Amino acid sequence: MADDVEPLLINGKRVQRKLLEMRPTQRCLTTECQSYCCSGGVWVDLAEKGKILASAAQVKPYLPPERRDESKWFDGVQEDDVDFPSGRGEGTAVVIDLTHKAGATCIFLRPEDRYCALQFSSIARGEHPWTLKPFYCALHPITTEGDSVELDDENEIYAEGGHCQREAGAPMPLYITFEGELRLVLGDSGYEELKRAAEAL
Ligand code: SF4
Repeated sequence: MADDVEPLLINGKRVQRKLLEMRPTQRCLTTECQSYCCSGGVWVDLAEKGKILASAAQVKPYLPPERRDESKWFDGVQEDDVDFPSGRGEGTAVVIDLTHKAGATCIFLRPEDRYCALQFSSIARGEHPWTLKPFYCALHPITTEGDSVELDDENEIYAEGGHCQREAGAPMPLYITFEGELRLVLGDSGYEELKRAAEAL
């Protein structure tokens, strides 16, 4: 199926048709991939940064003691970006971690289990796992830029071992494998529309 020919128009987004493909794959396991996608940190909207800092007390217990100083959680480099609701973003800090195969990770990636401390702390409070998780982290490996929605499976993270699609015995449509991520970017009604489009093929 052609990747970028005539994307599906859903909820004002141009959705890559590749997401309708059947693949013999299933979601990743952090015990296998070590959350390799977190090795470079992530750009966050300044509003997300503010929300994380406002919740610092809840996050700190889930980080190693040497990472609990919230003044070191972000790298201080801010840039304008129209894809952020606030129009401006900043990177999370990246720290050396020689126990990880990448040698360095996002400061929020827990060395002991490779879970994101932001996600872990929300789960511990009984909240949605993505309450504090940056949007682009929750979306990975789905990406969005402008009005496009794509599966980014031809990137260096995949090539270096952070593959988000494990082998599975039976094929499954990608839009089902990544249902949560697609609901996040398209909304529930958009996801249902995508499903109907796939089922009509
Ligand atoms: S914020 Fe969490 S999910 Fe995002 S890169 Fe850092 S550790 Fe990974």
